Amino acid sequence: MSKLTTGFLGCVHDKCLILVNLNRTVESSKRVFGRFLYAQAMQGKYAVQAAQGPRGEQGRRPFPYSLYRFICSEIRKGDMLCRNSQSFPGKVGSRQSKTKNGKEQNNMICKKLTSKERPTFPRRAVITAGMPYGNKNLHFGHVGGMFIHADIFARFLRDRIGKDNVIFLSGTDCYGSPIMESYRRLQEAGYEGTLEDYVRGNHEDQKKTLENYGISLDFFGASALGEAGSIHRQVSAEVFRTLYKNGYIRKMTMPQFYDEEKKVFLNGRQVTGKCPIPGCTSEKAYADECSAGHQFLPSELIGPVSSLSGKKPVLKDVENWYFDLEYCIDTVKKYNDFLRKNTNTRKYQLETVEEFLKKPFLYVPRKYIVDLAELAAKLPPHKLTDEEKKPSVVFAFENLDDRDQAKNVLDAEGIHYTSGKTLVPFRLSGNVEWGVPFPECEGLKDLTFWVWPESLWAPISFTLACLKAQGKEADLSRWWYDEEAKVYQFIGEDNIYFYAIAQTGLFTGLQVPKGEVPDMETVHLSHIIANRHLLYMDTKASSSSECKPPMADELLDYYTKDQLRMHFMSLGLSSKSAGFKPQVFMNEEEKNGVDMVLKDGNLITNVFNRLIRTCFYGIQNNCEGRIPRGDVSEQIRLMTEKAVLDYERYMYNHEFHRISYVLDDFIRGVNRHWVNNVKIADATNDGEFRKQLIIDCLYACKVMAILIHPIAPEGCEMFREYLNLGEELWDWNAILEPVSFYIADLENHQLKYLEPRVDFFKKHDSQLMEL
Ligand SMILES: [Zn+2]
Repeated sequence: MSKLTTGFLGCVHDKCLILVNLNRTVESSKRVFGRFLYAQAMQGKYAVQAAQGPRGEQGRRPFPYSLYRFICSEIRKGDMLCRNSQSFPGKVGSRQSKTKNGKEQNNMICKKLTSKERPTFPRRAVITAGMPYGNKNLHFGHVGGMFIHADIFARFLRDRIGKDNVIFLSGTDCYGSPIMESYRRLQEAGYEGTLEDYVRGNHEDQKKTLENYGISLDFFGASALGEAGSIHRQVSAEVFRTLYKNGYIRKMTMPQFYDEEKKVFLNGRQVTGKCPIPGCTSEKAYADECSAGHQFLPSELIGPVSSLSGKKPVLKDVENWYFDLEYCIDTVKKYNDFLRKNTNTRKYQLETVEEFLKKPFLYVPRKYIVDLAELAAKLPPHKLTDEEKKPSVVFAFENLDDRDQAKNVLDAEGIHYTSGKTLVPFRLSGNVEWGVPFPECEGLKDLTFWVWPESLWAPISFTLACLKAQGKEADLSRWWYDEEAKVYQFIGEDNIYFYAIAQTGLFTGLQVPKGEVPDMETVHLSHIIANRHLLYMDTKASSSSECKPPMADELLDYYTKDQLRMHFMSLGLSSKSAGFKPQVFMNEEEKNGVDMVLKDGNLITNVFNRLIRTCFYGIQNNCEGRIPRGDVSEQIRLMTEKAVLDYERYMYNHEFHRISYVLDDFIRGVNRHWVNNVKIADATNDGEFRKQLIIDCLYACKVMAILIHPIAPEGCEMFREYLNLGEELWDWNAILEPVSFYIADLENHQLKYLEPRVDFFKKHDSQLMEL
């Protein structure tokens, strides 16, 4: 650490320069600081981190935002990486920029923050929202449980890191047996279109619904259709070849259900039964997974029934390609531990992953065991846990082969058992006709990819398709495999196994050949954000349940998208499930208290609307429609700064419900400030006092609009229009600047005239009629 000049502490950290402003005025800082930085940046030497001393410590002033913005613009001239942070040099960067082997540590973009630290966002970001399956349109859970959260984050990042640095994508998951199965039923009911017509229709409907909710996808593809579909077929073949070359793939014979009456192999959803995982509460299980996301082998399914004939199917051996997921158990475990220690990955999500990372267990109920020692002697090497109070004894095996051998022994003895969660080989291929063709290899042909694995790399295919449309295909690795970029994937908790376990194995396998020990701190993996269940009237929504949940589009007949977006955001879902209880779908006697959708929407449709209007009318009546000149009061400045820093932190941690608390406190707080003080202004008829009040509230409204812009963009855009300002208003680098910052000629800047009773954030027509 070296002292650069009085008032600054500088720290040159490899290729990262960190500077702390101690106690300079803005003007003198600009002079000294700027010249130095500019010289450095032009030499192309350093990425720059501007840091700030903790507030309140003696002799240190907060890092001024105008200075920060100035530095940013200086740095941009040199096209350097710029981040800002609130902690001290030494603390920033100690693990952030480099790892032991000198590679940049991409995971630190998601690092766990210390209490005073401001978050670092990546330079480029891909955001994906879990792919909806192509057999129906979206119900409220797709949109409210995940898409809206992903969209809010994507819109925030566009404002925070620049819109050219964000790609937000999703698409319809088109293939697989469930789609064939629903198409078959539809055909029986008289549908005359092709399978592709059917999927395309659902894809178009999904796209329309997402648009209706303002989901701002840069790309919404379909894994089977058009250009994206053809790119996806190429990417899939490439993924197989790479994994094969890297040694993770093997051919295995496994039993598959076969319907003897219909003379066909049955896939996935064509077989139903009960989940074999102990304690599972799922209503339905299929050939190798249950509705709660458990994975098992077909032979483990309890009471299988064919959906084609209604008969019990038999098991026949078939050969398929498998990914060695059980080989990756240590890798996944190491990675999970790393995430737990260092990143803001959700805790429950890490625990869910952890549960799958146990050695292969078999549980044998005590009542079936005559002589435990005799039985144990017949089994392959294992660790035995025999606790008197437990109804079962537990055998823990080193590997799957040993466990399977043990199963054979138990089967032969007629002893019942259940197996625990563990990693099993991840099937890549199958014989479903409707699938991505699988490359012919080692004499195995006419196979297709199983839909789950190919849907995991579909976002890569979609990124390629999106870039190709802009003529930037070659840029793929800048988005997926770059230290400065991060991929954020929003999913539902049922899919944690696939995205946080199978994908971790697969994507590591694409980057590191088998046998080499991957450094899990530098392998490029997505940041997974799994939302908990969004319940409907307190029950888990599934289209099969009694209480049929509404389709996403139906809700828009009663609420505006902004009201719904505010409400779904406030339900959070980051650590616990929450119930969606729209009163318009309740009987009179079920209604209890206020409709929460309206209540959450009120913050913008009532309070914020009113606050903006009072500012505008105040300026129109007292200042001839021109923004008054003057500094924001200390009270409002501090309040605003706190709201901005809290909001930024919660956004970084994807704690959406907390964002709604921050907004609620901030907007209602400023509104109270207005209401209390305007009375004083009226009573004293003090023009200066009134002017200060207007300056304060307009400033707060401007910041509120930037904060709400990702959540309810249209009303915020309307506010910007009335301010008569450009898109630069949304740039987070200037979020704390006064309104005058954006205006070259304040004296002559005219606000758009606001007519009485204009709403920036609209209510639904049906709600207006009730008034
Ligand atoms: Zn289950």
